[in-house]
Amino acid sequence: MPSEALEVPARAHPLWRPKRLLVTPAALSWPQGAAMAERAAALGAEVVRLKADRLTGLPDTYRDAKTTMAVVVASPSRRKPQPIPPSADWRFDLAEGCPAHCAYCYLAGSLTGPPIIRAYANLPEILGALPPVLGQGQVTSRNAARAAEGTTFEGSCYTDPLGIEHITGSLAETIRFFGAWEAEAQLRFTTKYDAIGSLLNLPHNRRTRIRFSVNARGAERFEGGAPRVRNRLHAMRQAAMAGYRIGLTVAPILNLPDWREAYDILLADCAAALVGAPDPDLTVELITHRFTESSREVLQGWYPGSGLEMDPAQRSRKLTKFGSAKYVFPKALMAELRAGLEASVSRHLPHARVLYFT
Ligand code: SF4
Repeated sequence: MPSEALEVPARAHPLWRPKRLLVTPAALSWPQGAAMAERAAALGAEVVRLKADRLTGLPDTYRDAKTTMAVVVASPSRRKPQPIPPSADWRFDLAEGCPAHCAYCYLAGSLTGPPIIRAYANLPEILGALPPVLGQGQVTSRNAARAAEGTTFEGSCYTDPLGIEHITGSLAETIRFFGAWEAEAQLRFTTKYDAIGSLLNLPHNRRTRIRFSVNARGAERFEGGAPRVRNRLHAMRQAAMAGYRIGLTVAPILNLPDWREAYDILLADCAAALVGAPDPDLTVELITHRFTESSREVLQGWYPGSGLEMDPAQRSRKLTKFGSAKYVFPKALMAELRAGLEASVSRHLPHARVLYFT
């Protein structure tokens, strides 16, 4: 049975307001950087104009870091697109960091230093680095389910770009850029946020797939500061009705006591949210919970007592392609989760394409 997640949420999730925004001189010289500083100031942030382009005065507590945004210029190495299977052909970064406080956050294992949010001001240079790699992707060319999408570009590897869009405006500009592109290419990003209004009327030309990160009701207690799943589903419906291609990122799949029923309800809710959507071209990515030694250490420091199971004794140890170890669910449980989740997708979303289970 679908749940009340289908109801229009009583209120939108409040927009994130940074307490402090640090901006470098180089970033301020870009119109996008100056606009970010203005928007943050209008939200009440203290705007600190740094004297040099090196970031200084970074906070050292978690709480202060999570309320600080830095607007900087992405260096040439940072602007170079990187292969990023299985999510997409290429990754590019509009920002790093996220305002939410998820106890399982994958960023804990990938970003170092205090968890501030860095937004990049030199968007024209970032977008200008994308056309040279068109047609060179590996994911799309090797995967029949992706062939029609052209070269795919992932914009949310190290951030939730919708969560900070009201300050950056970068997503809207990127969506327009892809919409105007002649060649077959697709922008993809994942979000747990719901403030989709500013994107609905853009000339996206169906070249953007917005993937909503959703989870079972029992997982919401681990997603501090993020909009409720019902808000995300409402945003997904709005995006689908505005003609965007849609994706579901079911992540991280947890070994909840009632996981079969919980994820079945979630997928029924997703289906109900898309009723009447003209052609969402729905894809589904199924990602189980995993952690590394270092992400576990960081997360347990940030969220002591979160109650999220991160016990190596209950997991299988696997080596990543980079030679480090990650802890995943044991093989038998992985097989059960896969069969259960895929059955629920087939039952409720028979036209969806499952891109991968990992
Ligand atoms: Fe991390 Fe995503 Fe949660 Fe942000 S919304 S804290 S990126 S898991």
